[in-house]
Amino acid sequence: MFIDSHTHLYSKDFEADFQEVMEQILRSDVRLMVIPGVDVHSIEPIQKLCETYPQYCFPAIGLHPTEVKSDFGEQLQTIRQHLNRSHYYAIGETGLDYYWDTTFKAEQIKAFRAQIDFAIEFQRPLIVHSRDAFEDTLSILSEYKEHAISGVIHCFSGTVEQAQKAVQSGFYLGIGGGVTFKNSKLPDVVANIDLQHLLLETDAPFIAPHPYRGTRNDSRYIPLIAQRIADIKHVSIDIVAEQTTQNALQLFNLPQPI
Ligand SMILES: [Zn+2]
Repeated sequence: MFIDSHTHLYSKDFEADFQEVMEQILRSDVRLMVIPGVDVHSIEPIQKLCETYPQYCFPAIGLHPTEVKSDFGEQLQTIRQHLNRSHYYAIGETGLDYYWDTTFKAEQIKAFRAQIDFAIEFQRPLIVHSRDAFEDTLSILSEYKEHAISGVIHCFSGTVEQAQKAVQSGFYLGIGGGVTFKNSKLPDVVANIDLQHLLLETDAPFIAPHPYRGTRNDSRYIPLIAQRIADIKHVSIDIVAEQTTQNALQLFNLPQPI
């Protein structure tokens, strides 16, 4: 069995055929899914999804760096209220993204720090999105060392050296469909990092693995990512499944799957 540690299954992209997709996922070997938020508007659809499928879908809550605008303070207040009211398995997605737009760079950093404080206060792991911002991301995280924060650098896309630094800081690496792409640098990362530091993720509906690249992604494709990791590491897919499942159960403190 597998765990998809990052899927936006509540996305509008699934609206038209949600039931069908969900039934197919439930028939697959993917047992549990962690559902990260991106802003206050994703809170309600995530809640609905996780209440409908409480044995399969586990909510996280956060403000994604590309959603950080001038109203980020109010959004974070709302998020904190929800953290007080309901159980969330992680804070995220949060992090830094300098790839799309750096207009709100200073606000992104403030929002990231505020969400690290949430992780400390509520003792939850972080789901960190970092794009073109790895050095800032890691240097900010390292300031909180004494709090023993943990989490995942989701959709990891950095170098081997950056991967090693993230792992040394107590973070897992979320490996997604990118590892199956031609010319990807990720196989090098996967070859050099022990399985006990890796999580599987789709980031659905985005980044479908080969041979579905460019189409809508969903959790059923997790075994394709696992198989690629198994090939790179010269181990069986069962070993990848078992270790990454243990990693995700432990990081997010998820219940044992049935
Ligand atoms: Zn995501």
